[in-house]
Amino acid sequence: MARQTTETLPLLPLRGRVMFPDTAMSIDVGRSSSLIAVKVAADADGRLFLCMQKDSGKEDVQAEDLYLTGTVVHIKQITRLTNGSIRIGVEGMYRAYARDIIPADENGYMSVVITELRTVHGDESLEEAYFHTAKDILREMSGGDSRISQDTISKLVSVTDIDTFVNRTANELKCSPENKQEILESVRSVDRLRLLGTALNNELEIGRLEKKIKNAVRQSIDKGQKEFYLREQLKAIHKELGDDEEEYDELEKKIKEKNMGPEAEEKALKELSRMGRMQTSSPDYNVLRMYIDWLLDLPWNTYTTDTENLADAVKVLNEDHYGLEKIKERITEYLAVLKLTGGMNAPILCFVGPPGTGKTSVASSIARALGRKFVRMSLGGVDDEAEIRGHRKTYIGAMPGRIINGIKTAGTSNPVFLLDEIDKLTTNSRGDPASALLEVLDPAQNSTFRDRYIEIPYDLSKVLFITTANDMSTIPRPLLDRMEVVELDGYTQEEKREIAKRYLVSKNAKKNGLEEDAISFTDAAIEEIIDGYTLEAGVRSLERNIDSVCRKVAVKKASGEGDTFQIDKDDIATYLGARKYERDAALEKDEIGAATGLAWTSVGGTTLTIEVSAMHGKGDILLTGKLGDVMKESARAAISYIRSNSEMYGIDEEAFEKTDIHIHVPEGATPKDGPSAGITMATAILSAFTKKPVKRSVAMTGEITLRGKVLPIGGLKEKSLAAYRVGITDIIIPSDNRKDLEEIPGEVRDKLNFIPVSDVDTVFRNAIRW
Ligand code: ADP
Repeated sequence: MARQTTETLPLLPLRGRVMFPDTAMSIDVGRSSSLIAVKVAADADGRLFLCMQKDSGKEDVQAEDLYLTGTVVHIKQITRLTNGSIRIGVEGMYRAYARDIIPADENGYMSVVITELRTVHGDESLEEAYFHTAKDILREMSGGDSRISQDTISKLVSVTDIDTFVNRTANELKCSPENKQEILESVRSVDRLRLLGTALNNELEIGRLEKKIKNAVRQSIDKGQKEFYLREQLKAIHKELGDDEEEYDELEKKIKEKNMGPEAEEKALKELSRMGRMQTSSPDYNVLRMYIDWLLDLPWNTYTTDTENLADAVKVLNEDHYGLEKIKERITEYLAVLKLTGGMNAPILCFVGPPGTGKTSVASSIARALGRKFVRMSLGGVDDEAEIRGHRKTYIGAMPGRIINGIKTAGTSNPVFLLDEIDKLTTNSRGDPASALLEVLDPAQNSTFRDRYIEIPYDLSKVLFITTANDMSTIPRPLLDRMEVVELDGYTQEEKREIAKRYLVSKNAKKNGLEEDAISFTDAAIEEIIDGYTLEAGVRSLERNIDSVCRKVAVKKASGEGDTFQIDKDDIATYLGARKYERDAALEKDEIGAATGLAWTSVGGTTLTIEVSAMHGKGDILLTGKLGDVMKESARAAISYIRSNSEMYGIDEEAFEKTDIHIHVPEGATPKDGPSAGITMATAILSAFTKKPVKRSVAMTGEITLRGKVLPIGGLKEKSLAAYRVGITDIIIPSDNRKDLEEIPGEVRDKLNFIPVSDVDTVFRNAIRW
């Protein structure tokens, strides 16, 4: 169609839409001026100028309300609509620019004087490049990330003419009409392509974003729906099985029947109702379930009644133990006080003594005597407060502490509770277990003991706490102040033999399934075990060895090798192998530069050999064998004393300047300290310098002063027992310790020759073979 450069056409304003050439559009026309414009156009050649109004909401538009660039269309179809308006189908022909707009008031419709707007083509290759890029983007969109349909995309991609492509593609864009208008208005083809490219790119990005959001939304809906569905199913299953509610009801019943006391019951019911509102699969459900189980498992206000008759209680104590007269007496008093006061303010007993002296067994005997339950808890190596007091239940894997655990094991609220090895508590950064324990043992506080896990206070005031320790000196001071110490010393050979005969043999025979009369030991056999296989203050290893013999006898009996077995001294080696200790081995011959001392340790008394060697040198002193500072000072005091009295002992004073002294105490792994080795060191040093031997049948203990005085020491009883165990016959002791001789069991005292001394010279005269 030949087109004039300028012509006049009726104008139809578009609301919020942009008409492009080469595209089709259907428009509903309602405004009277627009209806007339359509009619005029249709009556002429069917051409109409379409342009967008700037404000789509404006009803009565004037020239200034319109974009001046628009498209000339050809009306293809007119349909009347019921409400008096019409729908027209138009086809875009070419772009045009409105030079002059004639307002509606003249003819009843708007008309316009236009000039065709031709696209200006320039750099062909650049255009091509843009063209291809745009098509590429379109193709990318066909991956499904698009707001334009697949069908339309493939149609657009196949367009070969650039103008047509831009028009049709721009028409499909979902971008704002203003952006489209910009494309419509651009004169240069590259500009149009560039604008189109940018719009397409945006389109692609938005498409992708939309897809993502849709997916996310879909997923969250799917997940939610799935969970809901499963929950409903689970509920149905539970209902079908009838278990959920039943469990809840049962727990509620149990709690109410438990007689926990109002506070505990309220707490338990509260947690139960919280639990009831949870899914059984949730971790919190299990936490609460476990907690409620704990509350139900704990004994609440459940008490055993103590034995009424004190004489019966004392009988039990005597039945279970040999000897220990003083201890039994003390415990009898204790039980009497307990009975009178009803346990109020009774002190806490602390049994102190070497291992195997019956501390645990006396405590369990007390429980038996009173008719109470017995629980035992070792504190050895406990370094965390939480072990005593528990972890809060919000902590993963939380549990109550050992005290509550023990109470649960006991099953009553007033057991005898043995806290073993209270001297082995340690402290670290996670709090101080000793102070937690203090709270447990303090009668003013322990009626409302709060375990962190249990949360509700638990009454420990009726619990009878007993503690044990090997070494009093390492018990935390505040704890020690709360307790009354009862010392259990080591046993003599005779006591050990009696304990073995009366208790250990029958106990271990029974343990190994042997009847009472199936096995018997002669006294000599037991003594052989004591002498040759044990070196201890208590009877632990004696019991282990007896157990071992019983076990082997049980095997023999089971294999039909006999019915009754009498174990004599000579049989021991066949059951236990060769002797481990030779009683007199250390005493074979006198030696120069070696003296036997006696020491007290937490596992009982022990002998200690001190070796000294004097070598050519320049007066240095070397001390080895893990000696503590006090012991080192004793060594120096001993040297100084001998040196200042060298003439008296026939030593050349100058010898000290030319001699290095090496003092060694073997068994270096055991740390040793204390002043009581003073005279022993002095003896060994003098022996080394004078080359005179020390009598090996002599052992000694005593502190030395610079002026040669001998000062008293502690632990004489344990030391004497140890000396006796290894076959020592003479013990040099400080005179001031004479009063302690009474404590030494008669049978040991009678067999040892005690030599009390007050100065070190007397020590030398008795110990060194001149
Ligand atoms: P501790 O707690 O002091 O380390 P135990 O109480 O465990 O020692 O005693 C070890 C073993 O020796 C136990 O079997 C105990 O019954 C027994 N025992 C210790 N002393 C005696 C005693 N005087 N009479 C009877 N048996 C004893």
